[in-house]
Amino acid sequence: MKLLDFNKYFPDEETCKTKFRELRLRQGIVCPKCGCTHHYWKASKEQFQCADCGHRIGLRAGTVMHGSKLPFRYWFMAMHLLTATKQTFSSCEIQRQLDHKRYQPIWEMMHKLRSVMGIRDGRYVLNGSIEIDEAFFTTETPKEKKGRILKAGAGSERKAKVLVMAESRDVENPKPYMKPKKVEFMKMRVIPDLKSSTISASVKVGVNCEKSVAVTDASKSHSKFSEMFDKHISQVVEPKDIGKVLPWVHIAIANAKTTIAGTYHGVKAEYLQEYLNEFCYKFNRRYFKENLFDRLLMVAAENRTRFIHRIYNKNLHFNAIKAA
Ligand SMILES: [Zn+2]
Repeated sequence: MKLLDFNKYFPDEETCKTKFRELRLRQGIVCPKCGCTHHYWKASKEQFQCADCGHRIGLRAGTVMHGSKLPFRYWFMAMHLLTATKQTFSSCEIQRQLDHKRYQPIWEMMHKLRSVMGIRDGRYVLNGSIEIDEAFFTTETPKEKKGRILKAGAGSERKAKVLVMAESRDVENPKPYMKPKKVEFMKMRVIPDLKSSTISASVKVGVNCEKSVAVTDASKSHSKFSEMFDKHISQVVEPKDIGKVLPWVHIAIANAKTTIAGTYHGVKAEYLQEYLNEFCYKFNRRYFKENLFDRLLMVAAENRTRFIHRIYNKNLHFNAIKAA
């Protein structure tokens, strides 16, 4: 959907609710009590009612909006802004666009949307030739470490470690101006350390290893890949040659860093995964163009987020924790 079309299709709360209700019915509602798939719409209650046992399900239940009190149009507007352009928007900017008084509910809404993007992409398993490397993203200094001298370089407490995996295949007879490889799907996962066991476990979740070829540098972190993968191409890479051997992971890392640094004033390490979810979701659907809004709406209707409600303390500071 084009940036200017939003008001045409979704002028008010009612049009958003109707669209969401129709979408949910199309996706199919299953009664959690009896398994029945036939439901009536109770307009007065804004609930679906099971035709068999009478159990009622709210319009938001089981979706990204589960438990939210924000208007549907806020969610629609946020999804629209996230998908209408290649850019991204900070929660602060969305709050300003929506003219909403409080920041926290908007912040939470944005993270829930990023979270369902991650859930959706988590279902995709990479196959074929996979570039794999680790990246270091600068994050905010943890509160307890403020004022202390931090370690420098990759081991710094401010550097979050991210495993990057990209399906990339050779281009046949590439022209001189073309990249030697073409990219398909991409994954980025925040990992706690660079141990070989940590990386191997994370790779196994996202890649069909037995039928894939891993392409990596000669780091010790990849020592188990030759057992795990059908084939492991490991090579010592000079920094100047990284674009030839692992072109797509490095383009993606650079783009993700630019996007995040250009939009947000510091990212906390605990939320970095959500921003990466958004980056990868849009990267993986870069050819969807105007269909991207409808696709995200489908994902939003199908998935209850893992992003758990904030826990306030008396100063209204909050924490959000992620279920495993
Ligand atoms: Zn039922």
